[in-house]
Amino acid sequence: MHNKSIAELRRGLHSGEYSSQELTRVFLDRMQRHQALNCYITVTEEQALEAAARADAQLAGGKAGALTGIPIAQKDIFCSKGVKTSCGSKMLDNFISPYDATVVEKFHDAGAVLLGKLNMDEFAMGSSNETSHYGPVRNPWDADAVPGGSSGGSAAAVAARLAPGATGTDTGGSIRQPAAFCGITGMKPTYGRVSRYGMIAFASSLDQGGPMARSAEDAALLLQVMAGFDAKDSTSVDRPLPDYTAGLNEDLRGLKIGLPREFFGAGLNSEVAARIEAAVDEYRKLGAEVRELSMPSLQLSVPVYYVIAPAECSANLSRYDGVRYGYRCAEPADLTDLYTRSRGEAFGSEVKRRILIGTYALSAGYYDAYYLKAQKVRRLISEEFQRAFAEVDVLMGPVTPTTAFGIGEKTADPIEMYLSDIYTIAVNLAGLPAMSIPAGFVGDKPVGLQIIGDYFTEAKLLNIAHRYQQVTDWHGRIPQGFE
Ligand code: GLN
Repeated sequence: MHNKSIAELRRGLHSGEYSSQELTRVFLDRMQRHQALNCYITVTEEQALEAAARADAQLAGGKAGALTGIPIAQKDIFCSKGVKTSCGSKMLDNFISPYDATVVEKFHDAGAVLLGKLNMDEFAMGSSNETSHYGPVRNPWDADAVPGGSSGGSAAAVAARLAPGATGTDTGGSIRQPAAFCGITGMKPTYGRVSRYGMIAFASSLDQGGPMARSAEDAALLLQVMAGFDAKDSTSVDRPLPDYTAGLNEDLRGLKIGLPREFFGAGLNSEVAARIEAAVDEYRKLGAEVRELSMPSLQLSVPVYYVIAPAECSANLSRYDGVRYGYRCAEPADLTDLYTRSRGEAFGSEVKRRILIGTYALSAGYYDAYYLKAQKVRRLISEEFQRAFAEVDVLMGPVTPTTAFGIGEKTADPIEMYLSDIYTIAVNLAGLPAMSIPAGFVGDKPVGLQIIGDYFTEAKLLNIAHRYQQVTDWHGRIPQGFE
């Protein structure tokens, strides 16, 4: 059962081949057996079995919703009522959310069964899941390698069949990069497509939630539930929701694909490049036209991001003060001591580094030189994408310069770690939708193909990904030991 797609599981539940309770138990058992991967921070076993029983009653009564009875798991950045929501941090290790994030509520309303909350980098800051207070997640393809981050628990859980689908969030690559490292399908939607209400903020102008699943079809089913206007999120976009599964099979003849030269320069591992070129060839066979483009401002995206994201995070994380909720130090001498020790003791070193950089960049006298300048370059990057989309329908390239690196390999060098997002970050700066889909292996480690589209072209991206998955089976491979 654990190897079936979400689409197949829906059919099996509706035909009565198995119940949601049986299905949920299969996943809970696997989660128990593969604890060494460290994917889950919290397992909501009791609630899951109750929800599954309710789902079975609805299925029997013919009242099923879009995902009734399907087990899913949430990245621990989404607030879930009555359940610990840690955001991977000691700061929120004691935080039981009093409310549901819109995304959590939507899955609940669609009948999905919550298996638990997934491990992640602390406050979503990281590319390897090593900044988590709960320890690193292991990559199911190689236990000594990282799963990527920050949605590393989500990607590893889906790859290891510890959940049929999961949520992730992507501020600079955190859905696509772990999806690539773990050989699954992930989508970062257009900024504003999925509500950020109840999704703990890292960098508000960049953060976006999205689906992580094994195939484009499953990602479409999850996105259908997650997306849509939300009056509780002022950056949510009020725009009709398309049917994301309706166009999956559309013909790709005449599709114009652009390959930005800057995605294939120095720094890209040659074997990864070869897999990307092979994937692009597959699209040629499907009738697409491919051309090269130049997008020189893409090279500025990492420095721009590392001004904007820390600036926004320094403001967002100021709310963790030891007073209202979250960690509080023992016996504070006075208010200043309460603030400084609570924050000093509960934030990890990557979070502190970002708060320091961000506070500096926003301080009087430096604001114009750093933050304002970065916002101007951000605009140039967005405009360059718009020029590209006047010529081509989508852009393709690698998701990451290399396959999954070793645990501990990059922790001593933040810049080296930041460069692992070099191909993903520009998309967030521009607010565009993009996917990572499995496109082969280098040795035993997966490679991800990135597909970037213009605003609100999620349905088109899913169609492009699905057609590739009809003629290849990279997305169907199972890591050894997790069959
Ligand atoms: N790795 C990037 C960072 O550390 C992106 C993280 C993310 O997308 N949440 O900021």
